[in-house]
Amino acid sequence: MNRNIFQLDNCKLCPLECGVNRLTSKGVCGANGIRLAKYYLHPFEEPCISFKNGSGTIFFSGCSLRCVFCQNYELSRAERGKDFSPKALAYIFKELEDKGAENISLVTAGHLIPYLLPAFEIYKPKIPVVYNTGSYEKIDTLKHIDPYVDIYLPDMKYADDSLAFRLSGAKDYFAVAFVTLADVSTTTFYVHVATGTEGIGTHPFLFALSLLARRVGASKNNDSNGT
Ligand code: SF4
Repeated sequence: MNRNIFQLDNCKLCPLECGVNRLTSKGVCGANGIRLAKYYLHPFEEPCISFKNGSGTIFFSGCSLRCVFCQNYELSRAERGKDFSPKALAYIFKELEDKGAENISLVTAGHLIPYLLPAFEIYKPKIPVVYNTGSYEKIDTLKHIDPYVDIYLPDMKYADDSLAFRLSGAKDYFAVAFVTLADVSTTTFYVHVATGTEGIGTHPFLFALSLLARRVGASKNNDSNGT
């Protein structure tokens, strides 16, 4: 993967476009490489994501949003965490998978996309990949990780930009998040859910979630009627 296309020496990966040289410094998001604080089988994600064994959740450090109410403050400010190489992250994907994770869930990864791609090139998980985001994303950046993502789990935090600026430092939040939501909810509406002993399949029950999800690959019986 040619990371030059991301121009990390003048980073404009996220909507903040702070322009820092990520090769030598950290931008507003606080990250210049893969840094993560915790990974484990998370039993308390949305029930259809955690299901029986838990979601293989990876909490990355740093974030483009600076929410004053952040419940993971030390993580989002990149004050906690350890640096990992793409190869080490690929091992984590495999480790979580081997432990029985229902999926791999990437939490707040938009500022790290160029660094995550080599990890997926080393090991592409056989279980679904969930992309958990505050929706403050640039579509041009997001499209690079899209081939590896099965389910998007976006928040919509604000409809009021002045509030978004005051509380999260993002003056254009609503317009950006609206475009993100529109982009990730287009095309098909398959939802992969674990279905008891039957394993993975599509399930009509989860239409509300399906608005937030996209293209989770073929179901067990290849049923495309996911509405
Ligand atoms: S991803 Fe980080 S470094 Fe890049 S523009 Fe956004 S805040 Fe700045």
